[in-house]
Amino acid sequence: MRSDYCGTLTAKDIDREVTLCGWVDRRRDHGGVIFIDLRDREGIVQVVFDPDTGEHFNLADRVRGEYVLQVTGKVRARDAATVNPNMATGEVEIYGTALSILNEAETTPFPLDSHSSVGEDVRLKFRYLDLRRAEMQKSLRFRSKLTNVVRNYLDEQGFLDIETPILTRATPEGARDYLVPSRTHESKFFALPQSPQLFKQLLMVSGFDRYYQIAKCFRDEDLRADRQPEFTQIDIETSFMDEEGIMSVTEGMVRQLFTQLKDVDLGDFPRMTYAEAMQKYGSDKPDLRIPLELVDVKDLMGEVDFKVFSGPAKDPKGRVTALKVPGGNEKLTRKQIDDYTKFVSIYGAKGLAYIKVNDKNDLEEGLQSPIVKFLPTEARKGILERVEAENGDLIFFGADKATVVSEALGALRCKLGEDLDLYTREWAPLWVVDFPMFEEEDDGSLNSLHHPFTAPSCSPEELAKNPAEALSRAYDMVLNGTELGGGSIRIHNQNMQQAVFRALGIGEEEQREKFGFLLDALKYGAPPHGGLAFGLDRLVMLMVGASSIRDVIAFPKTQSAACVMTDAPGAVDEIQLKELNIRLRKKEKPAAEAKAD
Ligand code: ASP
Repeated sequence: MRSDYCGTLTAKDIDREVTLCGWVDRRRDHGGVIFIDLRDREGIVQVVFDPDTGEHFNLADRVRGEYVLQVTGKVRARDAATVNPNMATGEVEIYGTALSILNEAETTPFPLDSHSSVGEDVRLKFRYLDLRRAEMQKSLRFRSKLTNVVRNYLDEQGFLDIETPILTRATPEGARDYLVPSRTHESKFFALPQSPQLFKQLLMVSGFDRYYQIAKCFRDEDLRADRQPEFTQIDIETSFMDEEGIMSVTEGMVRQLFTQLKDVDLGDFPRMTYAEAMQKYGSDKPDLRIPLELVDVKDLMGEVDFKVFSGPAKDPKGRVTALKVPGGNEKLTRKQIDDYTKFVSIYGAKGLAYIKVNDKNDLEEGLQSPIVKFLPTEARKGILERVEAENGDLIFFGADKATVVSEALGALRCKLGEDLDLYTREWAPLWVVDFPMFEEEDDGSLNSLHHPFTAPSCSPEELAKNPAEALSRAYDMVLNGTELGGGSIRIHNQNMQQAVFRALGIGEEEQREKFGFLLDALKYGAPPHGGLAFGLDRLVMLMVGASSIRDVIAFPKTQSAACVMTDAPGAVDEIQLKELNIRLRKKEKPAAEAKAD
């Protein structure tokens, strides 16, 4: 039906006769001559029809935005005065000789020009139209190129692309499962995979040695901003490779993506331990583009006559830390400081103390702050020295349980970086290593920080003795404060796997019921193995500079995990439920409503 894409025509094509198919981006009537901007996935070209073309001109007069056309014409140079340097095809236009309308279009529910400010709900409801916008086309094309580079790279490195099941048993990654009822097995359910974790490990037991898959994963989480219940991973597993080997292959992959697709050399990625990341940045995914650091001052605060500081200073689980904003005195208004106080409260911080350093040599009059009167001179001096304060700096403080302080001031650090545009470079990748095996819940129980198949760096006996202190052989790749991927060396020995299950409070019976197949497999010559998975959506989002993960997924779910276009999830009819042996429970009404009935 066509000879060329609209968006690819250039001066080289002048005098060629072409046939194009595409959508009407714009139609203008310029005193008897009709201009149509015809658009396809490669871009836009201008088509001109003049009245000499008779019936074709009349048709051109009829077309409206988003009509689908087939146009034949000759490529010609534009007049010097009308050359459009902002358009890839701006040097040429098509002198149209024939036109047929392949389909008409009603007026679209929102204008498709890329600066359209229509709400996201409308864009998602008419996603097929939203995807016509150049920006969206560009992002999805980038995504396709990216997966292509990934496949080529991994293929060259000897990785095999192997699919794993979608209908399966629970694969714990710390979220709720999406369940699928089975019709053929009454009262039984499949779970959609939270990741292909166990299958890829079993592929290692089978000897495939290097596996990858661009895999869909499903996690029924309470949706935090910018998460998707269904997302894509570049999932990787290898045998007979240690941490160094795996990190080097996967770092190479990300470096190649950046050189090939963005012409950016990321260089070698630095390494940082989890402990250092939490201490300096309050986060296990530090954004190293921001030059601010948390500086602990707990030891200076034990004896001060100010409970807000001395309490956490004396608490072994407490943390008292300072965050210096160089020049913050001038840069931050009172209103901003109030806003930051509200901001840290989201993370559980009860307040945000600060000191403005007007004159660092005058510890009595030179410090301006609602709290400075509570701090003895020694403490003031200690703080200024510790953070290396200069006149004009502003120092924020966090004092609370360590988890609250790290989260709140870690987030504040990133917010300050963004608000004050403190970024020192465009890309800051790193590896975070030496994670704890477990995180402790308030009730003392343990949860895996990664997943229960991650190998500890200690023996099963040491693990049993002091699980809370055990470190894992896990590693996360972080870019600009976002976790791009994470993985670990796995447990390949049944005893060790059972020791970890025990530490997690998973008893013998539950182990067999849920993971019997894995424990069995580990008995039959499981090789040492490990791997990693990258969040593909997030990687694309960072690389194209999109502000939301939804902008790099063709058909994403909303924040409440629904598809407004297809209206999913939807109700099912009684017959289907019957086949599945499912009876829906009536949702219990809140007490007040029930009474009113
Ligand atoms: N399965 C892990 C995840 O989804 C990644 C890995 O350990 O390879 O986060």
